[in-house]
Amino acid sequence: MYDAKSLRAEDFINHQEILDTLAYADENKNNIALIDEIIEKAKERKGLTHREASVLLACENQEKIEEIYDLAEQIKKDFYGNRIVMFAPLYLSNYCINQCVYCPYHAQNRDMARKKLTQKEVEQEVIALQNMGHKRLAIEAGEDPINNPIEYILDCIHTIYQIKHKNGAIRRVNVNIAATTIENYRKLADAGIGTYILFQETYHKESYEKLHPAGPKHDYAYHTEAMDRAMEGGIDDVGLGVLFGLDKYRYEFAGLLMHAEHLEAVHGVGPHTISVPRIKRAADIDPTQFDNGISDEIFCKIAACIRVAVPYTGMIISTRESAELREKIIRLGVSQISGGSRTSVGGYQEEERPHDTEQFEVSDERTLDEVVNWLMSAGYIPSFCTACYREGRTGDRFMSLCKSGQILNCCHPNALMTLKEYLIDYASEDTRKIGEKLIEKELEKITNPKVKKTAKDYIAQMENGERDFRF
Ligand code: SAM
Repeated sequence: MYDAKSLRAEDFINHQEILDTLAYADENKNNIALIDEIIEKAKERKGLTHREASVLLACENQEKIEEIYDLAEQIKKDFYGNRIVMFAPLYLSNYCINQCVYCPYHAQNRDMARKKLTQKEVEQEVIALQNMGHKRLAIEAGEDPINNPIEYILDCIHTIYQIKHKNGAIRRVNVNIAATTIENYRKLADAGIGTYILFQETYHKESYEKLHPAGPKHDYAYHTEAMDRAMEGGIDDVGLGVLFGLDKYRYEFAGLLMHAEHLEAVHGVGPHTISVPRIKRAADIDPTQFDNGISDEIFCKIAACIRVAVPYTGMIISTRESAELREKIIRLGVSQISGGSRTSVGGYQEEERPHDTEQFEVSDERTLDEVVNWLMSAGYIPSFCTACYREGRTGDRFMSLCKSGQILNCCHPNALMTLKEYLIDYASEDTRKIGEKLIEKELEKITNPKVKKTAKDYIAQMENGERDFRF
């Protein structure tokens, strides 16, 4: 039976409830009065239930769809301003004992060169990432208790935080590794990770079991209940995601929102982020073999509906998507993007982009400098900020600040100060010029005179070599 508060996967992601939700959405997809009511509720910026949001996603009326897009854009502006947080993935190991049919790291793939970074190599990768200007990483690894045990992951996190190269530093390490035990989550929390990210891949249990025919990831309940164990283990911020293309997108969307409602109901805090990856071509993976691929148009509609349904949850889009699509979707509510990414183990030290250990083909192959330049030219502030996590503003503390609107007083100046660091230490001449103008203009927008003065002072001190200021 459906119960958002239950700790059993099949209760909080209840199949019948999703089917009923989809039937309700179908019945009401042209019910303009109800759609207007839901849009009005969304305007209060307190979120929507999975049923309400599913009606919006099913809506076929072009005028109403435009209204949803406009609202998504407005909510993004209200909560995230024109800031976009930058990060990069760091692939530690592609050893894997699972058999996910969409992933080239699957254990049956004998042609995949297997590689695991030594601590020395982690250091070299991190220096390469620091030299690009990154401050925030998401570490990625296959699941293999012998080759990549939790101790290995912890060693890597420790190494990453230790490395200080020139003015560089990685200030936040997010972790995307397979579902694990409360004890291991506690070790990750103690190691000072930022967000624990785990994609559900699909919420449809039957499909899930077929798509993960063997290995520990086959266990739907263990995977789906992982975020509860992570929170129980002391991790405040968790990131959800669905791999779009595996099952029907409307089913996944309802499941994703039910998962968010469940976390809020049980732990008092919803997901910190939601990722929206789509299946990509990779070694022995052909995305056209999957029946449920979604068009760019539907993809944008999903992003807009997520934005209005969970306004306080960050939304992440990776380099799986092209520059053109990223430009379109960012305005609908994306708050974080990766830049200059390499999805192969050890890829950042290579001059040429290597493909032999790559997890998927990257569509946006621009350098971080090119992405930063492009974002600023499109009116966004690329932010390298990691302050909330370092100031202990995580979990419910972050959410309550966010809901009170207070967070804006920190995020905007922090974004400008971290962008300034980037411009001085890493940017090309052209990017620096665009950035300096942008910072000057944006500083004037700070309404609190004390904050404005302090931000200006800090930025002046950066010119004299000081770094790492934050509110
Ligand atoms: N092995 C861990 C796990 O199972 O959760 C870590 C995650 S894996 C390195 C990162 C994510 O990449 C997966 O959760 C999956 O959604 C995504 N992925 C796998 N194959 C992909 C493909 N062909 N195209 C796009 N994304 C893919």
